[in-house]
Amino acid sequence: MAKAKPVKTTKAKTYKNFIGGSWVNSASGKTFENRNPANLDDIIGKFQDSNEADVKAAVKAARGAFPAWRAMPAPVRAEILYKAGEELIKQKEEIAKTMTREMGKVLKETRGDVQEAIDMTYFMAGEGRRMHGATMPSELANKFNMTIRQPIGVVGMITPWNFPIAIPSWKIMPALICGNTAVIKSAPDTPWSVWKLVEILHNAGLPKGVLNMISGGGPEAGQPLVEHREVDIVSFTGSTRTGRLISEMCAPTFKHCSLEMGGKNVIIVMDDADVELAVEGAIWAAFGTSGQRCTAASRMVVHKKVIKDFTQSLMDKAKKLRVGNGLDSKTDMGPIINEPQMEKILKYIEIGHKEGASMLCGGKRLMGIKHKNGYFIAPTVFAGVTEDMTIFKEEIFGPVTDVVQCEDLEDGIRIANNTIYGLSASIYTRDVNSAFKAMRDVYTGLFYINAPTIGAEVHLPFGGTRNTGNGHREAGQQALDIFSEWKSVYVDFSGKIQKAQIDN
Ligand code: NAD
Repeated sequence: MAKAKPVKTTKAKTYKNFIGGSWVNSASGKTFENRNPANLDDIIGKFQDSNEADVKAAVKAARGAFPAWRAMPAPVRAEILYKAGEELIKQKEEIAKTMTREMGKVLKETRGDVQEAIDMTYFMAGEGRRMHGATMPSELANKFNMTIRQPIGVVGMITPWNFPIAIPSWKIMPALICGNTAVIKSAPDTPWSVWKLVEILHNAGLPKGVLNMISGGGPEAGQPLVEHREVDIVSFTGSTRTGRLISEMCAPTFKHCSLEMGGKNVIIVMDDADVELAVEGAIWAAFGTSGQRCTAASRMVVHKKVIKDFTQSLMDKAKKLRVGNGLDSKTDMGPIINEPQMEKILKYIEIGHKEGASMLCGGKRLMGIKHKNGYFIAPTVFAGVTEDMTIFKEEIFGPVTDVVQCEDLEDGIRIANNTIYGLSASIYTRDVNSAFKAMRDVYTGLFYINAPTIGAEVHLPFGGTRNTGNGHREAGQQALDIFSEWKSVYVDFSGKIQKAQIDN
């Protein structure tokens, strides 16, 4: 299991797994390299290539730590999270720089990634003093009813590489505050960011075994984690293909399973929109993180009256984006995460061509002096895209976006909904009626008005419909529902037998 073709071998630090409060080598003794996708000579480190034996040890540690952690009052658990949040703030710049080396996105975006983890850490620490249940009247006299949250047990977490610290924090913080223990398997391309978050939580005073981390491949380490009998919940973020496999693995034992998966997000631009504002939003949503965001806008559905102006401006601005190393302050867009992903994007570009879309810009790997040692693709805009085309239907997860014409609002909403996914959508319009209609009728988990499809805040629920998710929401207080179970409690202080539905 390796991230990239070895280029040069430079001396690199070896990072270990974290199991039962100790940093340990993988059972096999094997490691893999983590290289910078903008500069393949740059090795971030060597990481443990874990397998089932490591999973077993990590789950055992998490199971052992569960009773004491569950018994610790939630506000005391929260104190540890607050300390971790403070440390994340102190180390924000250093983490962001290494994260840019690790996965390529530009520094202002990796700073945002760390900030999101800080926000989530503080938000969930606050939940430690809330963790609301409800009290409700009883239908019987002298009886008191309430609901309380209960932790579930051991959580197995599997995360992708595109938000290397934010997404792990979205799982770790709510899981821990609810009183669960956890094992996280980092994405093969971004083990350092998870390693760093785990180190910070450890130094903040997390008791041993409460959080365990293994690095390694999906089939080798992820699958045994999902299938382990002592894992009670699986929390997964990644592709729809892997999510389906995980769902199938969880089904036989009815294991709780929350899935955050792919997207084919859309911006609708109406004829009364501020077109320049819409183009600015489209550029950010299509090419931020090189289009490798689950909420990236890969479909622009534009009213026929403004499509010419919109497309021209989108193309002009896409051409001007400066592609390069994310550590360079002059760079607007970084590299693609790895070679297979780059090849996949180039293949989709070829398919777009073959199926008759007009490529207005980009469409190729960049091989200049600044680029030849990494995986760079020029920002690509396709016009004349129709609903039957592959590039309209499938998630590309790269700097490629489509412009599709619509006749009116109803047609725009219909086209927006013509997808198997349902994560994020937006509309640009100055008409409040159009905005509200679209908000109501576009079937996604996130919706923006006069803003791009990206920009989630941690205190709102996050997730999608259809093939994007299986009904759960991360972030917001709703995330607590993934990591706890409700218990309804009835307290009868009447001193006599009372029978609900019968006595009254
Ligand atoms: P991926 O599915 O290839 O991998 C995700 C994780 O699953 C990795 O840690 C991987 O090692 C693991 N994995 C792979 N095969 C496995 C198996 N058989 N058993 C257990 N684990 C396995 O996805 P990716 O390329 O890392 O991420 C990109 C995808 O993630 C895109 O589709 C994107 O839309 C999606 N994503 C979704 C959200 C969301 O919140 N909806 C957020 C970010 C990314």
